Amino acid sequence: MYDTILYMSEDKKANAMSRRGLFQAAPLGAAAAFLAPQHAQAQEQPAAIPSLKFDIEAQTHWKGEAGSANEATVAEFPISQNIAGVSMRLKPGAIRELHWHALAAEWAYMIEGRVRTTVVMPNGQSAIDEFGPGDTWYFPRGHGHLLQGLGPGEAHFLLGFDNGHFSEFGTFSITDWIANTPPEIASRVLNVPASTLAKFPKKEVYIGPGPVPTTILEELRLRESQTSQFAHKYRLDMQTPRVFEGGIEYMVTQKDFPIQTTFTAVKMILKPGALREMHWHPHADEWQYFLSGQASMTVFGSHGRTRTEEYRKGNVGFVPQGYGHYIEQIGDQPTELLILFKSPEYQEISLANWLGGNPSSLLSANFGIPQDAIDKLPKKERGILARKS
Ligand code: MN
Ligand code: MN
Repeated sequence: MYDTILYMSEDKKANAMSRRGLFQAAPLGAAAAFLAPQHAQAQEQPAAIPSLKFDIEAQTHWKGEAGSANEATVAEFPISQNIAGVSMRLKPGAIRELHWHALAAEWAYMIEGRVRTTVVMPNGQSAIDEFGPGDTWYFPRGHGHLLQGLGPGEAHFLLGFDNGHFSEFGTFSITDWIANTPPEIASRVLNVPASTLAKFPKKEVYIGPGPVPTTILEELRLRESQTSQFAHKYRLDMQTPRVFEGGIEYMVTQKDFPIQTTFTAVKMILKPGALREMHWHPHADEWQYFLSGQASMTVFGSHGRTRTEEYRKGNVGFVPQGYGHYIEQIGDQPTELLILFKSPEYQEISLANWLGGNPSSLLSANFGIPQDAIDKLPKKERGILARKS
């Protein structure tokens, strides 16, 4: 596991590495060079777009008797500077121990199974919640939390962090802190004798086994504790989705989920043969996790550069901020993906709306094609197009 010092220095690197910094210093090699076209010398051809795909489920970064965690940070997937992801599994009763993240907020989507969480907020309020498939949570940066698998069966969920330099293995864990505090201080603060303190874990537990909880929620220790007035839970799959000809989309912004201040989350389902039409996002990178099925995504990065890659269950995909893209569904089964934007609001410009927002004569002149052909062009976004009939 990374120690805290390394984690901190990674963060300092993150702060120093604004986009502007990337253009000048190019410390990341290929990733930086490819992001540079707008600022490069006019005669200089920018680097080709690197791979925008990472197979998070093909790794095993941490595995214990009670669970496992695979991650995609800048170390594994350097193109994603703003968002990191973790695919975590917890056995029934398993506890992802009390911890916080100094430098990232945590978003999650339950893929399978059930999880119970506790969270403490700076205003002293606490919450305990349970999550099932399709539910999401959001813990603001620095808020202390714990996760427990409820069973039956393993809980599997995707975690998203609003900092690509964040590592799940560099979190601030309660056992790590206590084990590294002088015993006389820890005894005094925890109000236990040295003999009791000696029984505490000697190092970070991270994920450990625990009893499968009873179905009845236990009382919090501080009985008068006020319940959090800022819900951490949003049931994404229970939302009325936006319906398009070729699929549906669930979307949660801060407007719907006030505590989710740094992310907008989307679950997209593409029917067989569907095409997510050409568009771009002016405000944020797009970070994807494929839940099921297959798709081909093509990204356009100016200077004639495009990159097409195929994605399947367990793959992470990425579209840099402002880059044009479209997604073609592949196969007989619907394709499902989760999408994160590091922004409390959603922004998109579709090629169709752009064409609709111009007079015909100008488009005719721009493309050099006659008016009657221009009249056939779309005027309004259709989102996800149905299979070509
Ligand atoms: Mn966490
Ligand atoms: Mn998009």
